[in-house]
Amino acid sequence: MHSLKDQQLVKNFSYINGSWHSSETNLAVNNPATGELVANVSNAGIAETELAIKAAKSAYKMWSGKSANERAVLMRNWFNLMMEHQDDLGKILTLEQGKPLAEAKGEIAYGAAFIEWFAEEGKRVYGDTIPAPANDKRIVVIKQPVGVVASITPWNFPNAMIARKAAAALAAGCTFVVRPATQTPLSALAMAELAERAGIPAGVFNVVVGDDARGMGKVLTEHPDVAKFTFTGSTPVGKALISQCASTVKKVSMELGGNAPFIVFADADLDAAVQGALASKYRNAGQTCVCTNRILVHQDVMEAFSEKFAQAVSTLSMGNGLHEDVNVGPMISEQAVADVQTLVDESINMGAKVILGGKIEQAGSCFYQPTILTNVTNDMPVASNEIFGPVSPLISFANEAEALALANDTEYGLAAYFYSRDIGVIWRVAEGLEFGMIGINEGIISNAAAPFGGVKQSGNGREGSKYGLDDYMEIKYLCMGGIDK
Ligand code: NAP
Repeated sequence: MHSLKDQQLVKNFSYINGSWHSSETNLAVNNPATGELVANVSNAGIAETELAIKAAKSAYKMWSGKSANERAVLMRNWFNLMMEHQDDLGKILTLEQGKPLAEAKGEIAYGAAFIEWFAEEGKRVYGDTIPAPANDKRIVVIKQPVGVVASITPWNFPNAMIARKAAAALAAGCTFVVRPATQTPLSALAMAELAERAGIPAGVFNVVVGDDARGMGKVLTEHPDVAKFTFTGSTPVGKALISQCASTVKKVSMELGGNAPFIVFADADLDAAVQGALASKYRNAGQTCVCTNRILVHQDVMEAFSEKFAQAVSTLSMGNGLHEDVNVGPMISEQAVADVQTLVDESINMGAKVILGGKIEQAGSCFYQPTILTNVTNDMPVASNEIFGPVSPLISFANEAEALALANDTEYGLAAYFYSRDIGVIWRVAEGLEFGMIGINEGIISNAAAPFGGVKQSGNGREGSKYGLDDYMEIKYLCMGGIDK
């Protein structure tokens, strides 16, 4: 941490009601690339979670009472500070999460972009007037913030998964409590430090760090003062949290797992498809919810595509994300590596063939080699599960109908990608894919202006875009009578 320009960005305590709270025990944050200790952070629990909700409730009247312009000025300050400290925030992120520094800095800019976007979008929370069925009435619709928002976020985007939620919540006039993933609390706490410097008042943005996921999760999902719960993480945990939210009928949004198909049609620009697949698969060592999970290739171009793809993947350089020229970092833990190895081994036993990688990398126990498997079928574990690692299974198809059927044969529905130059194929396949986001001749699709979210068991609600505020607002209908004399 000594190489940071601003050491004050490293915080070791939860941030509640504008102050830093210590607890009796600590939890260790380790660098997945080296196993070294990065920092010890106070291990908060149920009591601190309740305190944070109380703080958010107390601050709600003040924050929701500010004008959208006043909130936008403070959020703009927050955005500016995040960009000013992009280098330091990137380093902190790489140290605790592992992704290459260039990617980490990209995540800071991506997260900050949501704060900038929603600071402006908060000024455009328009209502509606509706022609009434009777002359003596008028119908008006207004939108109001839901109240206190609680959230739980994962380790794979320690900054952006928080920024995407907090930006919309704060712009809407809600106050916010987040419990970040145990492995990556430092990025969240650095965001809190900058929120304070930006002038965001005490109680509006609270971060509670602790390893009691279940206990703290129960408070965040069941507390009567929390009006809305938002989660990013795995589908099984998301399902459990939805049912916990039922007890108080909270508004809920879920950004869950994915199993993205990447379809290469026979007329595709193969070089562009290779670049798209490379970016959407190996970014963050394959640990993103929108990562390509299965590459479906038309049988006529399978050989040409797999040769070009293997050539491109073999140039990727693995290592410590802080080192220059590294473009694939470690996975988050040894357990994550072991889980990927199991999926690969089981698929090989069912007939898949390794054309690249397939093993734990010598660089360290958290590194898995960028891998390509051919002869894969949709029922193999590497295709039917969310891999969450740097492994590309190649599956052959004969025609458009088969490609669509294979692509949709999953309970997930987050992102999908396809490459074709035929306008008819483009419309039919875009409409036929049962996914929330579709990349067409494009492997990187996420940005603040676009609605991010899934269908089926990938969740509900949208983050970013003009639609993103609705998840943090209630619609109120005003019926005015006695207008006619
Ligand atoms: P995870 O196990 O579901 O964990 C996510 C968060 O939930 C962490 O903060 C975790 O805490 C917490 N958690 C775990 N069990 C809990 C429980 N019983 N009660 C309350 N909280 C609980 O997911 P992950 O494996 O860390 O993250 C990867 C998953 O997230 C993948 O499935 C990925 O696709 C998904 N994801 C989705 C999106 C999206 O936008 N759709 C974006 C990124 C990731 P601990 O850290 O203490 O375990």
